[in-house]
Amino acid sequence: MNVVFVTSEIYPFSKTGGLADVSYSLPKFLKKEGVNVIVFTPFYSIIDKNKFQFEKVNEFKVFINNNWEKGEIFRCFIDGFYVYLINNQKFFNTNEIYEDYNKGLRFGFFCYGVLKGLKKIGFKPDIIHINDWQTAILPVLLKVNYKDETFFKNSKVILTIHNLAYQGYFPKNILYQLGLPDYLFTPQYLEFYNQVNFLKAGIIFSDFITTVSPTYAKEILEPIAGWGLDGVLRTKKDKLKGILNGIDENLWNPEIDKYIWYNYSSKTIELKAKNKGKLQEFLNFTQDEDVILFGFVGRLTYQKGFELIVNVLDELVKLNVQVIILGKGEKYYENLIIEKAEKYSDKISLNLKFSEELAHKIYAGIDFLLMPSVYEPCGLTQMISLKYGTVPIARRVGGLIDTINHKETGILFDELSLDDFSNAILKGIELFYLKKEKLRKMRITGMNLDFSWEKSCKEYIELYRNILGGS
Ligand code: ADP
Repeated sequence: MNVVFVTSEIYPFSKTGGLADVSYSLPKFLKKEGVNVIVFTPFYSIIDKNKFQFEKVNEFKVFINNNWEKGEIFRCFIDGFYVYLINNQKFFNTNEIYEDYNKGLRFGFFCYGVLKGLKKIGFKPDIIHINDWQTAILPVLLKVNYKDETFFKNSKVILTIHNLAYQGYFPKNILYQLGLPDYLFTPQYLEFYNQVNFLKAGIIFSDFITTVSPTYAKEILEPIAGWGLDGVLRTKKDKLKGILNGIDENLWNPEIDKYIWYNYSSKTIELKAKNKGKLQEFLNFTQDEDVILFGFVGRLTYQKGFELIVNVLDELVKLNVQVIILGKGEKYYENLIIEKAEKYSDKISLNLKFSEELAHKIYAGIDFLLMPSVYEPCGLTQMISLKYGTVPIARRVGGLIDTINHKETGILFDELSLDDFSNAILKGIELFYLKKEKLRKMRITGMNLDFSWEKSCKEYIELYRNILGGS
């Protein structure tokens, strides 16, 4: 079975969040299961050209925006599979992966590049697995502009929605720029409140849709989590499935993690405390095992409930605690947290950056992860935390419900309110000081959970087979 996985970010080249992890791990495990998989991704200028070996394999031209745009195809072999990278100076010479400039055209060009690239390299896909809005216009190009191409005659498209809130809206003009016909600009197809909506396009034109947890698959059918697309999704209900993401246990495993100070397992969990001490030292905090260390790793956005974190700090810092924040995000939230971190500099360590290394150190060193998400399609940070014996304090929503067992492995709360969040934190504090044995048991239970990719990968393969008619 030939599968092409199409993604706008992939670890270790380009990463802003969980999509990059999935784009690396799922193909790796598919390959192990005997699937002939390759990946396509943009060749952003920020990708470190010295760290990896890229080989130019071909070129192509696309007529878009009234111009013949040239593209180059590079490739690099990582962990058992080839990643093909589409290059174009105008579109991918960016400081940030999702820089606002020309987004519709950039990712439209990328999708054309994938189709052209597949033909150039002679890879006839049975499954084209696309991800999120950046790749969601691809099935429209395929089924409208490439409809007579025998090369793609048997190709089926699966769209995975990693986050329904990001949809990619553009003025109608994008249709002309991408050489797509006018009739698509109706509510039945791509139009969405007088704009072209790429994600909607993907939902309508793909053969099957998945999302990244079973609970989120149900939630997005309702207006509260549907972001205006719940109606369209309901029409495809029988072609929608939630498959839980896994985590890559070669990358996220405290027994072999090269970034942490002391490797440990559930049998040597005492060593976690030593990592905590080192982390405190590293952050210039007072080194004290009895001070509770809370952490947050992630994008500073509305989705992550970051406002609740900011608001809880005034009360939290009155207690014997330290808080570490690692993340980048919306300016509004960055400014709020900068203010708090300046005010309570001895108790809050603010790291407004992206650091893979520090993330590992945090998961190993903190006592509790704070994750009060407003919505959460799947979430990887809580799964990683559990693997590192760190107890998540999280909202009962989306993938957090599917991965955290309240009182057994974590602490869940319901309402998006400061009261509910504070109460959940207090339960954590109570565990830490008064129910040490219970806390230790929770940590060990979490560490022994199976979040490996093997299981999810098999579900994807079964789905591919069903879509291809059991072949
Ligand atoms: P998202 O909604 O961003 O995809 P996930 O929980 O699914 O959230 O995945 C987040 C991934 O990105 C995890 O691997 C997490 O460790 C990583 N991550 C997020 N922010 C940072 C950061 N500032 N530095 C390092 N890693 C980060």
